[in-house]
Amino acid sequence: VNVFFRPIDKINSIIETYPKGIAGFARYTQFLDTQPDIMDRDSAREAGRLKGDIAYRGVRFGYSAERPVFDGLDLAIQAGETIAFVGPSGAGKTTICSLLPRFYEITAGAITVDGIDIRDMTLKSLRSNIGIVQQDVFLFAGTIRENIAYGRLDATEAEILDAAKRARLDDVIANLPDGLDTMIGERGVKLSGGQKQRLAIARIFLKNPPILILDEATSALDTETERAIQQSLAELSAGRTTLVIAHRLATIANADRILVVDDGRIVESGNHADLIARKNGRYKNLQAAQTASDPVHYLNLKR
Ligand code: ATP
Repeated sequence: VNVFFRPIDKINSIIETYPKGIAGFARYTQFLDTQPDIMDRDSAREAGRLKGDIAYRGVRFGYSAERPVFDGLDLAIQAGETIAFVGPSGAGKTTICSLLPRFYEITAGAITVDGIDIRDMTLKSLRSNIGIVQQDVFLFAGTIRENIAYGRLDATEAEILDAAKRARLDDVIANLPDGLDTMIGERGVKLSGGQKQRLAIARIFLKNPPILILDEATSALDTETERAIQQSLAELSAGRTTLVIAHRLATIANADRILVVDDGRIVESGNHADLIARKNGRYKNLQAAQTASDPVHYLNLKR
């Protein structure tokens, strides 16, 4: 049986399982395509390749009925725009992003892409338009080639190599005993944190979706690796509508728009220069809380 075709949660050879405590995509994306209660409407259509204009209109959602996370959330993102979500832990940044691929169903309002309600698209075609880069890279025991091609099994060798190159994984591959056919995982080569990140980026280059969701790492890699990954991510994001759950100063400062989220509401919106100029603004205050000892991760704040 080809390991690719088994639901992710049934692969017992997963070489990396998600750390339990992580509140974020990790938990939900594990069940991508397997969550039983979210299904296609009978009238759902194939989305085709979307442009990536996104709108949330009066969105209501809660993980439990008693505690809504959003009650009337409005948001409009233009195709190609890069949005950085910042704000305290638990504010709702991850949840906003997880509603777009329909990992959860909203209870009022609508989310549209290119003006079409995402519930009127097939889940598969909606999700084929969205690439997600998570903090914890999901790899399975298999070859590098299989791990890159995951999500686009029809890819040619040339396409896989091109994606690897764009993700700056080509040098790594060149130094491996069997190149693309090198086994990774328990009984194969162990990849470093930075190499795993690069592999995740190569996957998305190969998938080439118009929409990108980036759950930025809170834990640091070494500075040089960090910079290389940042660079690859910037290239990945170019020309795609990008939603970043942002922790890095460079990401935030370079975003087209920063949205400050607090308690399920967007309390400030603007670019870095706009927001920093606001007297007593939330963003300005968040920045003031920066600790000198952690200049890179300065927006990973507690309330
Ligand atoms: P962080 O920066 O810590 O990741 P965040 O801004 O991304 O925080 P969310 O993870 O979106 O915030 O959480 C919003 C609210 O929803 C919080 O109150 C959180 O406790 C709750 N929440 C998040 N995920 C779940 C879940 N899977 N089940 C139940 N409640 C959840």
